[in-house]
Amino acid sequence: MRLILVGPPGSGKGTQAKLLGKRLGAAHISTGDILRKAKEAGTPAGKRAAPFLASGQLAPDDLVNEVVAELFHRDDRPEHFVLDGYPRTVAQAASLEAVLRQQFMNIESVIILLVHDEEIVERLRDRRTCPVCSSPYHLKNKPPKVPGICDMDGATLVQRLDDKEETVRQRLKFYHELTEELIPFYQRQGLVREVRAEGDIEKVYKDIEQVLKHQAGPAC
Ligand SMILES: [Zn+2]
Repeated sequence: MRLILVGPPGSGKGTQAKLLGKRLGAAHISTGDILRKAKEAGTPAGKRAAPFLASGQLAPDDLVNEVVAELFHRDDRPEHFVLDGYPRTVAQAASLEAVLRQQFMNIESVIILLVHDEEIVERLRDRRTCPVCSSPYHLKNKPPKVPGICDMDGATLVQRLDDKEETVRQRLKFYHELTEELIPFYQRQGLVREVRAEGDIEKVYKDIEQVLKHQAGPAC
């Protein structure tokens, strides 16, 4: 299985990609992870990635393309994989296509996770995190026993910068402007399957499994 998972921030994309990888016996490839690994390995791209990893900013296209190309040029390249967070733009998708073609590989499916913007803002804006033990909370769905205080260690909960409404709306804008262009790009290859990602984790997973089962295959 060679799969790309596309979805807005807060759609649960990372969680689903991890589950799919584990249950389908495929490598879960997130750009964050491969950038971190390249940095640890001290490759030239890894050195360029370090400041982006430290600041949490999106790495530029050419850098991300380079670490992905490095990964697929290695002898231990993954044969089956779930890509999570890459490609993020059509330029990245074109680069990925060229890299895979060199290895006689192709993408078999592109799953688009659909969540309404307002649902995402609510999910992320109400998220709180413990700065000490990293326990996640949610004001509505998983509130702490004492408001604002971590159940585990009594630390004062904080809102991550990434979860602030303004940041969330900016990330959604990027998604609608640049990432959604991937949909027509892959539609032309007959690879796109859409799944609503508004239920719980297992429900969404089952729906993904279902569309993968009924896939008719590339229309070319
Ligand atoms: Zn804590």
